[in-house]
Parts: sequence; C-alpha cells; structure tokens
Amino acid sequence: MKPDVEIYDTTLRDGSQGEGVNFSVMDKLRIAERLDAFGVHYIEGGWPGSNPKDIEFFERAKTRKFKRAKVAAFGSTRRKGIKPGDDEQVRLLLDAGVPVVTIFGKTWLLHVKEVLRTTPEENLAMIADTVRFLKEHKKFVVYDAEHAFDGFKDNPEYAMSTWLAAEAAGADNVTLCDTNGGSLPAEIARITAAARARLKCRIGIHTHDDIGLGAANALAALDVGATHVQGTINGYGERTGNCNLTTVIPTIAFKLGKSSVPETSLRQLKELSQFVDEIANFRHSPRQPWVGSAAFSHKGGTHVNAVQKVLNSYEHIDPARVGNARNVLISDLAGRSNIVMKAAELGIKLPPDAPELKAMLARLKKLEHEGYEFESAGGSLAVLIKKALRAEAPPFTVTAYHVSMRRQGDRSVCEATIKVQVDGKEEHTVAEGDGPVNALDSALRTALTRFYPQVKHIVLTDYKVRILDSRTGTAAKTRVLVQSTDGKEEWGTVGLSDNIIEASLQALIESVEYRLMK
Ligand SMILES: [Zn+2]
Repeated sequence: MKPDVEIYDTTLRDGSQGEGVNFSVMDKLRIAERLDAFGVHYIEGGWPGSNPKDIEFFERAKTRKFKRAKVAAFGSTRRKGIKPGDDEQVRLLLDAGVPVVTIFGKTWLLHVKEVLRTTPEENLAMIADTVRFLKEHKKFVVYDAEHAFDGFKDNPEYAMSTWLAAEAAGADNVTLCDTNGGSLPAEIARITAAARARLKCRIGIHTHDDIGLGAANALAALDVGATHVQGTINGYGERTGNCNLTTVIPTIAFKLGKSSVPETSLRQLKELSQFVDEIANFRHSPRQPWVGSAAFSHKGGTHVNAVQKVLNSYEHIDPARVGNARNVLISDLAGRSNIVMKAAELGIKLPPDAPELKAMLARLKKLEHEGYEFESAGGSLAVLIKKALRAEAPPFTVTAYHVSMRRQGDRSVCEATIKVQVDGKEEHTVAEGDGPVNALDSALRTALTRFYPQVKHIVLTDYKVRILDSRTGTAAKTRVLVQSTDGKEEWGTVGLSDNIIEASLQALIESVEYRLMK
C-alpha cells in the first residue's frame, strides 16, 4: 500500500545541527534502526562530504538491514565550473552506498550571485548536471530547493526554472525548503500550488520552525498537493529547530485522515520521541504536543471531573492512539498491555490477566517516579520482568566493593576491588582502569568470568550520565545509562542513585544479569 504522504526523517543530519545535539556514530545507528522499525520512509543519515563521522555512519549502515526505510545521503550540487564526477563532495555521495541521494541547490538569485558568485545559467547547469550524474548512477534523487519560498518571492520565473531544471534532469522528487523558517502558511500554500501546477514529479516540503510555524507550514503544503514531508523527531534542528515530525505524523493521521507511517506505529510515537531524547541526553519536554507527559494531563477540578464523566469532553483525541496516557486516571489497562507488549518483545508470553502484572505495574510506576527511565534501557526492563515472573534468584550478588583513585606522576590511576558471590562461592578481584567506572567494570567482569565464561564477551559501548533535578530539597540524583553488546545483540541498562559510582555499578550489574538470564 502506497502511503498518501511520505515521511522523510532528517534527525540525523539537519537535526544534528541543533544546539546541544551531538550524536555518536553508534547513537545514529540506534536511532536509524528505531526509525526504520517505526516505519518512516526515508532516513537521511548525514552529509558524507561534511565530516568523517558521517562517512563512518554510512560505512556501518551498509552492514545493517533496514526493513522499511530507505537510507539517504545528503550533499550539494556540484561546484561551479567543474564536472560532477570531478567533485569530491559528489563522489562521496556515491561512495555512501545508499539507494537515495538528496542534493540541495539554489533557488534564490541573491544566493546565486552573492554566495555562489556565479551566473544564473551556471546555477541551472549545476543543478541539472548533478541530478543527471546521480541518475546515471541509478540513484533515487531528491532535489532540495534551498530558499524555495524566499527565492520565489524575489523572482518567481527564475525560481521555477531551477525546479524545472531538476525535474527535467530526472529528479524523482523536488522538495521546497523554507530554509530561513520565516514564511507564513498562506505563502507556503500559494507557492507550493504554483509548483504543483508546473511540475509532474512528487513535491516535498522542508520547513524550519523559526516563527513557530514549522509544522503548520508543512501541513499548508500538504493541503495543496505536496506528498512528502521532511522533518525531525522532537523538532531538533538549527536555531529553533526543524518541522517537528512528532507533531506532523499524528496530525496527518488523525486530523487530515491521510496515511503515512503504519497505523500500528502511531501507538509507539511517544516512545520514539522519548527514545530519541534519551539518546541525545535531553529531558523529554512535558509540553510537547501529542507526546509530552502533560499533553493529556488534567489538573483543574472541573476538567478532571468532566473527563471522568465523558472522556472526550476536554481531550481532542484518545491519548492511547499516540502511546500517551491521561494523567489523572492513568488507566491500569493501558499500563498492563504495555508490559505484556514489552514482555512479548523479550520472548516472554504473558496473558493480559496474569496475576503478577499488578505488582509489576506498581513497581514500574514507583521506579519511574523515582527517576528511572526504561525507554532506552530494555535490558533493565527485561531483568525486572524476569525477576518478577520467575521469582528466580539473581545469577550473582555483589557483596562488597571499593573504589579508589590516586595520582601517580602525571597520570591518575583508579583501582576497584569487588567481591561477588555465586552459589555460596565467593570471588574477590582487583582491577585498574583509567576511570572509576572503567575499573569497576573490569573488576566485576574478571570476578564473574570464573563462574560464567561468557561474561568475557560483553563489551561496554556507551555510557551516559544525567543529573536529575533535585526534588523537594533533597540531593540531585544521578541516572546512568549503559549500552552493552556481546557482538550479536545490543542492550541498554539503567542505574539511579545520589552517588554516580553506585548508579554506574547498578547499570553494570544489570547489563551482566541481562546476558546471564537469557
Ligand atoms: Zn533544513
């Protein structure tokens, strides 16, 4: 089934330009996999011509299977005065080895003359040559028309001629970009309609949120014939951000009644939004439309009362349809089915009326209230569910540990000792590391290898620390997220404490428990 509207995610490219966003290659791969599972149609992985990190991303993306999404590499039209094949930046787009290439080119004469410092004719040739070159190499080509709206307002004939040049050269899609983010919905609609009247290919829309209208502007374009939306999860992006897909996707489904991502994915929208925030190490915004924790919370007495009587009296939609929940009466049922779903993902069959569910749900809520976060810590959640279900003893216990740090010449050395117990037998080990967590990790794994040789293969791939706001005057808590792999699978675990070492150890212990409890 062809969707009415294609979703093109650029969280990993345009989104990573946002202030405070700094994705590692591993982060990007995890987000790409999650976006693929969610069902977006395109994932723009980066600009190989702009940095080595993006080249590495495409290198590693080649070894992964994407089920639904096509991965796109982003770049620009060739430089003036040379052939596309001689332009290093264009060649890197082919080297990326992905089926889709998106290139941006100039619409606005101001940019052609003052920024590129070339002639209007050469700009048209740069667009056409680059598109043709990529088509000759069998790429699906998306042409991003930079400053499409500002350029059209300045000189409609020239703007249109740049888009027609891209189409005539074989572009599969011409996407109009409101690069400076200052356009109004009516202008976007008028200019997109003008493009629709002349172009035969698919028209896309790429907007920025500089005046808070990123999503509104995208919808205005969809209204007059655009069928492809570019944006980012949670609206990450330069300045005030890009068009927020977390807002646009449910609006397309529930307000316009059009299809885009699979309907079943919409219920995971909130989870996706939280997941990406977790990876970026941002606090999830409670006021985000559709997916924020406050989006469906009712505080005012009359609202609460009315909502209890008639659910839709103060709600524009049932929050469960985007995976969110009403805050006053968090439905026990929704919570239960969530756990059942999670358990199924972990390969544990659980009937929806299982007696353990109630206790498990209460425990989860309590932990989340304390500050635990399980969106990207599936390993911890699995350990929690398995412990509750099987009532089995943990595979090992850490009975004591000690961490110390000293200065030795110009280098600092951390040393950790740890005591573990397995089936009544005890093991005591010491290890050094370049940091306290590294030393602890090493001591823990050395101690356990005697009992469980497979522990040797577990490698720590990522470590993230977040200081949570202090509540009610107590000390701030530290949340640690650890990512591990055994070469076959990756999993995340979480620890929480007012002490960073303690929180780290918790996450490390659960990482090993997860592997051993499989
Ligand atoms: Zn942009």
